Amino acid sequence: MKFMKISEHIYFMEHNPETDRPALGYVRGEKGGFMMDAGNSAAHYHHFIEKLQENKLPHPRYLSLTHAHWDHSFGLWATKTATIAGGKTNKELEKMSHWAWDEESMKNRLKTGEDSVFSDTHIRREYSHRSDIKVKTAEISFNGSMTIDLGDVTCILREIVSPHCRDSVVFIIPQDGVIFLGDSYCSAIQGEEWFYDKVLLTAYIDEIEKIDFRLAIKGHHPPQTKEELLAELKSEWKKL
Ligand SMILES: [Zn+2]
Repeated sequence: MKFMKISEHIYFMEHNPETDRPALGYVRGEKGGFMMDAGNSAAHYHHFIEKLQENKLPHPRYLSLTHAHWDHSFGLWATKTATIAGGKTNKELEKMSHWAWDEESMKNRLKTGEDSVFSDTHIRREYSHRSDIKVKTAEISFNGSMTIDLGDVTCILREIVSPHCRDSVVFIIPQDGVIFLGDSYCSAIQGEEWFYDKVLLTAYIDEIEKIDFRLAIKGHHPPQTKEELLAELKSEWKKL
């Protein structure tokens, strides 16, 4: 997948819908790099690290997650970098670390609604051997927000109310006017249907309006300006 520089300090690798690999991001600072999301597998994580090497960018010093969903977090175990997640995300990961990946367990989770057909299908596509799946929690967790100082650039990790899931975190890089959204802008899946909760979408639009940024990197879609993102969210809101 294409690896691009999007602003003075920020790079990202585009998403790949085939096995539901989300966009992964990287902030380059004087004191080291910050990687945004871990990828859906060790293979996805390593693919991104290869792109950093090709572009002569240093190995990340920190890695943080936007939320616990498998496609953003299952690459976490593959890194030796310091890992960070919101407290709610880490709780979800802890729960998922006990999941088994045999047929019966996977089918059971579809019945209980713990997992969706959409995830199930893509997990099977990403992993030819599901025994390779390892779920790990992050070493450092925070509640609310935390700031990482990379010298000439800072990354603000902030929990945000989101229509997608209850553990959403966004990364704001004020010096570049960039926000890394993960899936926080997406609707939520129930069974096989995607839907937006009106109350949560209203609160999310409100939060996004208040944050100062120019460009948004999205988990499963191309980047947008703040104006484009808000216009899209408001048109979804009108449909509800
Ligand atoms: Zn998600």
